[in-house]
Amino acid sequence: MTAGRHALVIGGSLGGLFAASLLRKAGWTTTVFERSAGALASRGAGLGTTRELVETMRRAGARLDISMAVPMSGYVWLDGTGRVVHTQARLNASSTWSRVYLPLREAFPDSDYRAGMALERVTQKGARVTAHFAGGATAEGDLLIAADGNLSTVRRQLMPEVEPRYAGYVAWRGIMEEREVPPAIHRDHFDKIAFSFPEGEMSLAMPVPGHGDDTRPGHRRYYFIWYRPADAAALSDLCTDADGVHHGTSIPPPLIRAAVTRAIKADAAERFAPDLATVIARTAQPLLQAITDLESPRLVMGRVVLLGDAAFVARPHVAAGVSKAALDAACLADALAGESDIDAALARYERERLDFGTRIVAHGRRLGTLLDGKNILRAEWTGDDAYRDPRRVLRDYGAPHLVHDLTAQDLAA
Ligand SMILES: Cc1cc2nc3c(=O)[nH]c(=O)nc-3n(C[C@H](O)[C@H](O)[C@H](O)COP(=O)(O)OP(=O)(O)OC[C@H]3O[C@@H](n4cnc5c(N)ncnc54)[C@H](O)[C@@H]3O)c2cc1C
Repeated sequence: MTAGRHALVIGGSLGGLFAASLLRKAGWTTTVFERSAGALASRGAGLGTTRELVETMRRAGARLDISMAVPMSGYVWLDGTGRVVHTQARLNASSTWSRVYLPLREAFPDSDYRAGMALERVTQKGARVTAHFAGGATAEGDLLIAADGNLSTVRRQLMPEVEPRYAGYVAWRGIMEEREVPPAIHRDHFDKIAFSFPEGEMSLAMPVPGHGDDTRPGHRRYYFIWYRPADAAALSDLCTDADGVHHGTSIPPPLIRAAVTRAIKADAAERFAPDLATVIARTAQPLLQAITDLESPRLVMGRVVLLGDAAFVARPHVAAGVSKAALDAACLADALAGESDIDAALARYERERLDFGTRIVAHGRRLGTLLDGKNILRAEWTGDDAYRDPRRVLRDYGAPHLVHDLTAQDLAA
């Protein structure tokens, strides 16, 4: 029923590779077009994992290895003196982007992965869709899957009004070697996500795989994320280099002004327990990320489908962007498998993934409530204000109502 059907997949990162691999198993021919000419750069050290992610990797034919993730036993909230305020047992695991990307990429044939192909625009005629690339090349198929990330060229062409929305706060991220972690933190908290909540702010520190994605004890790394409110003017200042050049809403780490780095380390010393402040102080090069989210009101436009970050981006508190991309791809493949009516299959995909995307974006916003700069007294809390209570944040961190934490048993299964 699906013989001869061809999907053009724009974007060869995780969403694109999941979609291309799973549609292939559903009987489609798939070709991936990736703008980057070389190997894709890793997207950061700490990656939240889920059972759904591992199951979809297996289904896509990707090699899985029990050492892909660092197991953790739960969450702990530390106050400004390092005292434990609250703990929450919860088995989960952190991994890295490359531990997911490389096995997926290896499982997908090189002959159908076209690197250095930057999509410029899409045209449609009847049930056929054509991708137009920089340099003049074109490709034609029955379906085009836009897995081209949060700044998707395809989405911007078809729905220019939909753009990432700044959340009003930034994340500072940093990483250090396991052997440099202050001994008391290593002894008491290294196997957990350690949260802190300085006034109107939030930080997390956790173990992640080390150099070469090594997950062996002693070879891991310690990773922190510190969320801090910054209005548009403050963000613009943070993204201005020492020569006064404004870089928009992001800045290459080496261009972050030394005075900015000094200031956040000084703030850390005032706001965090001494050992956590040391973790931040020892980070040679903190990274800055403006937190955004994105919601698409539609996912299907004729024979064009949005998937992964091109469709929805939830704030990082849900730690599930990769799992969402995997589930989007699985849903699309399931809807199309053996279905003669492509449009009906796409309508089903849209219905299911709009619902999931809307819910996960809303949850990311809820988890970020206490970063909104408002000082509302507990007695006046209503609705999502409950998330101003760190205990509530710990209870619902990630998206436990939408995906399942990964445990060592899931990997071994
Ligand atoms: C710093 C950081 C930390 C993160 N941490 C986590 C985490 O802990 N847990 C988690 O689950 N997720 C995390 N994410 C999110 C996660 O990386 C994404 O959700 C995931 O990679 C799925 O994205 P995607 O494949 O849809 O898009 P992307 O990974 O953005 O890939 C889009 C691809 O499309 C290509 N492309 C773009 N435009 C074109 C074009 N015109 N033509 C051809 N190709 C194009 C790009 O080169 C890129 O390879 C994090 C992201 C960042 C930036």
